[in-house]
Amino acid sequence: MNWKEVEEYLKNDDRVIVPIGSTEQHGPYGLFGTDHMTADRIARGVAEKLSIITVPVIPIGMSVHHMTFPGSLTFKPQTFMTIVEEIIESLRAHGFRRVMLLNGHGGNRDTVKTALSSFINDMPEMRVYFRCWWEPEEVNSYIKENFGDREGHHSSPSETSQMMYHFSEHVKPVDVEFKEMKRSEYFADKNTFRKLYPNGVMGADVNMATKEHGEQLYMKCVSSISEEINQWEKA
Ligand SMILES: [Zn+2]
Repeated sequence: MNWKEVEEYLKNDDRVIVPIGSTEQHGPYGLFGTDHMTADRIARGVAEKLSIITVPVIPIGMSVHHMTFPGSLTFKPQTFMTIVEEIIESLRAHGFRRVMLLNGHGGNRDTVKTALSSFINDMPEMRVYFRCWWEPEEVNSYIKENFGDREGHHSSPSETSQMMYHFSEHVKPVDVEFKEMKRSEYFADKNTFRKLYPNGVMGADVNMATKEHGEQLYMKCVSSISEEINQWEKA
């Protein structure tokens, strides 16, 4: 797109999607980009279906707990909060009023919510919707029915399946032994995290991931999130 097209769009619409993710380890075969690539694909699917705009994905998030795994990148929470605020501020300056932050990384949740709390009162004309792709009812029940407790918390079959569907040439499955989810009683630092989850998987059975599940999940994400956006009231 170019700025002329955005100017034209804003005459009739004020909705925009901001996909956000992370670049962090995803177990023995999950790709670093899993969370941002998944969010980006869903955002593009929704944008195309509704003829609305999606901006480029924010590919790095809040991943301090993954930092003993080589290749993982993170923003400090305060940096990430500033990034979220300044992107929304930019969109607001041009006349966008309804924004969906479409999230692909569980570890971003608290930071994004804290960011929103810190500035939302200063932007009363804005409507910001924060959605993780696995939250819509239709998506969540598909995950429960097909993976149950083995969905786990990180490097899960649902995200891995979507990566297999979109990027099959890059995802190279290996057999990964399933281990029950363990938790720390205290707030875990990166070393504790590594001790609890030595291969980077958190109580998930990655072996359940398939391309077919990935296609189903992707379609359900696009349809249910599109439906939600269609129900937004005018700001
Ligand atoms: Zn992930």
